[in-house]
Amino acid sequence: MACREYDYAGLLAETVARHRHYAAQGEVASYIPELRKTDPTLAGCALITPQALYEAGDTRYPFTLQSISKVFSLLVALEQRGVETVFAKVGSEPTGDSFNSIVKLETSEQKPLNPMINAGAIAVCSLIPGDSVEERLGLVLKLLEKILDRPVGIDEHVYHSEQETGHRNRALAHFLKDIDCLEGDVDEVLDLYFRQCSILVDCTDLARLGMFLAQKGVTAQGEQLISPHLIRLVTTFMVTCGMYNASGEFAIQVGIPAKSGVSGGILAAVPGRFGVAAFGPALDKKGNSVVGVRMLRHLSQALDLSIF
Ligand code: GLN
Repeated sequence: MACREYDYAGLLAETVARHRHYAAQGEVASYIPELRKTDPTLAGCALITPQALYEAGDTRYPFTLQSISKVFSLLVALEQRGVETVFAKVGSEPTGDSFNSIVKLETSEQKPLNPMINAGAIAVCSLIPGDSVEERLGLVLKLLEKILDRPVGIDEHVYHSEQETGHRNRALAHFLKDIDCLEGDVDEVLDLYFRQCSILVDCTDLARLGMFLAQKGVTAQGEQLISPHLIRLVTTFMVTCGMYNASGEFAIQVGIPAKSGVSGGILAAVPGRFGVAAFGPALDKKGNSVVGVRMLRHLSQALDLSIF
């Protein structure tokens, strides 16, 4: 007798319907001017089981990866340069500060605390090898393309918008250079960082990327692209630092390795089980999607997803 799958589609539809209104409690990121244009009431969530993709709401609306890209550039740097080289330039402790804070660079151990905050991610970007920005970005895009099984591009408007206004990231990068945590040319590394943040995805892509992590680096086509050891490393960072200075509360409320970005996406990976994703552009004070966090909490409770 065929075993019927749980009504995931029904659960997701109910999840979006019940939580969309929480967008009113947040605000769309405005410090990157191009992001300001997004409709704050968009909301969607997606879940991938080993059998099928389920989705509800605005799951096909394109948005930029932003900080979620940090997970994949870290995987590329670890693969290409090795664990030791990467952790010579970046630490592995959570911060109590916002994702773009500069304060601990001077007061702590003279390297960025972890690769999920901007300073750490910029240091990691500098370790991605290649003769040009295009070649270096190409390594990140290639990884994503293999996982998603489709060509991946960037949003040129968001890229230029951040390129023109990213003064705080420039300050972080120059400070990193001064403390010997940034390899090569500062402007080239920033260019790479801004471009990787501008990679275009939708909510279903995030669920697929989550599933890749949940399956310990194996693609939907069955190819082991990244070693389980490196996947364990980055998913641990997602638990301790993936939601910035809200990671502790998220671990308690939701309990799934996850990474958010300021365009409103959250990627989550339930080890060995599901890829889950949420999208809602209105953010809370810490830069996480208000609707996204609420929806993931609901899904975690309904499906008993907490890893703790
Ligand atoms: N591009 C954004 C920045 O550097 C990424 C930050 C984020 O998504 N939290 O500010």
